[in-house]
Amino acid sequence: MTSLDGVIRLIHDKQCSFRVSDDVVKDIEDMVVHLVKNLLPKLLKCYPSCHFSVAEVVDAGSYFEQTKIELPNEFDFMLVVEQLSNVDSISLKKGCRDGYARVGVVNQELWDSAKPDDGPERRFEIAMLQFNMFVRETLKLLLSEPIKGRLGEFSMKDITVRGKPYKAFSHVQTLTLIWTKYSHVDIKHPSTKVKILYERQPKEELEICVDLMSCCHSSLSTFNNLLPTMSLKNELLKKNGCHIVLKSCESVKCVEKQTECRLISYTKTEQECMRRLHENWKTVYKVLKWLFHYTEILEVDTYKIKTAILYCSSRRRADSVSLGEGLIKVLYELRKSAYNNRLPGYFNSSLNVWNVSPSYQYLVKYEISFLLKLFSKMQSVSTDNENTYLQENLSVINMWLQSFCSHAAEIAEIKKDRLTGLECFNWQGNLFLEILKDLEPVLKSHSRFAWIPFQMKCCVLGDVFKILTVILVKKISRMWLALL
Ligand SMILES: [Zn+2]
Repeated sequence: MTSLDGVIRLIHDKQCSFRVSDDVVKDIEDMVVHLVKNLLPKLLKCYPSCHFSVAEVVDAGSYFEQTKIELPNEFDFMLVVEQLSNVDSISLKKGCRDGYARVGVVNQELWDSAKPDDGPERRFEIAMLQFNMFVRETLKLLLSEPIKGRLGEFSMKDITVRGKPYKAFSHVQTLTLIWTKYSHVDIKHPSTKVKILYERQPKEELEICVDLMSCCHSSLSTFNNLLPTMSLKNELLKKNGCHIVLKSCESVKCVEKQTECRLISYTKTEQECMRRLHENWKTVYKVLKWLFHYTEILEVDTYKIKTAILYCSSRRRADSVSLGEGLIKVLYELRKSAYNNRLPGYFNSSLNVWNVSPSYQYLVKYEISFLLKLFSKMQSVSTDNENTYLQENLSVINMWLQSFCSHAAEIAEIKKDRLTGLECFNWQGNLFLEILKDLEPVLKSHSRFAWIPFQMKCCVLGDVFKILTVILVKKISRMWLALL
């Protein structure tokens, strides 16, 4: 094993594992699943004047991928609307951009609040919003009294539509529940497998968010003109089909014409792929999630990391991977994306999921390059004992997080200013050098890492040359033109 394997294992066990006992996690999961998969569809069917039903509840999000970290406090589901998921109930057209489709209702009679002059696409939106309203009302009824589990009970805090109507995220409804432990129950703490540094207080109360996203289902063949050939050949997508959610393209042209396109979702297939991953890939994913969580302001979110993990694992013939090797591979993939500003979606390669704003592009590049150098050094030292170098390695990682966080306020400021390309680079280059300055003493105190500050400075200097060359060439060509 390498000294990096030990670090990943330790961070995973100490930071990523759930902070409540396995019994509590299981009890909460059972209650949430029972509520959304059994009670909700049943009661919705009987709800007066509701002509919708749920065809399927699809697991979504990290809890069901088995990659949720820290607390079991977020559950995501997709509710498939039966009436919009038959072969002849909706029509699909190409959207204004890749990954989106214009969806219209074919059967015009179904939804009473639609006006005669509403087009098929507007009717689709009305139908989905109506379905959402029935879901909220049904849940309020269901939770008018607490739901009882084995170790505690759920009560409803609220259920809200995120954001304003027709704005981003209005397609998601969030049910917030409060789980309270029964006072007479004594929970052994924590899960027995893991040795922890200090005893955490057993949780008596926990706030849990359940995100519900309504969607319609359509078989892959109906997306023939909408998805790249690669996606259409994907065996898992063929089996599962795709879903369409209410999330709109938000392009000005579409909003004005009231013909917004809707996002095509591959969640069901993605979930299946994630669940099938070897345990070590999941561990690497969780540790990276934890690590990048501290620098989330730079927009390297979990979806980008997940996409990189899916690519890395699919390229490997062998099922398993060592922790250190897996982490390095994913960081390489992320660095490649940071340099090219591009990371194709795993199930739809025409999409670019690497949407980092120019204000952070250089910082992200330096962050990933730095981590890659650091972890490669740890990976190159093999040891017999998991504890050798462990403290040294951890102290450097801690110092990186600390010095980054201490500059977080300045980093947040960058985005507010509208800067030219050169100013933008200057800001980011200088900030990174400042962060590096805080790190230098600890890096130089370990001979393995001593060269990293110098290498990183060269990295920044390289960009200075590139940018200045571009500016110089522009100036010369302008002068040349003036002379002519
Ligand atoms: Zn559009």
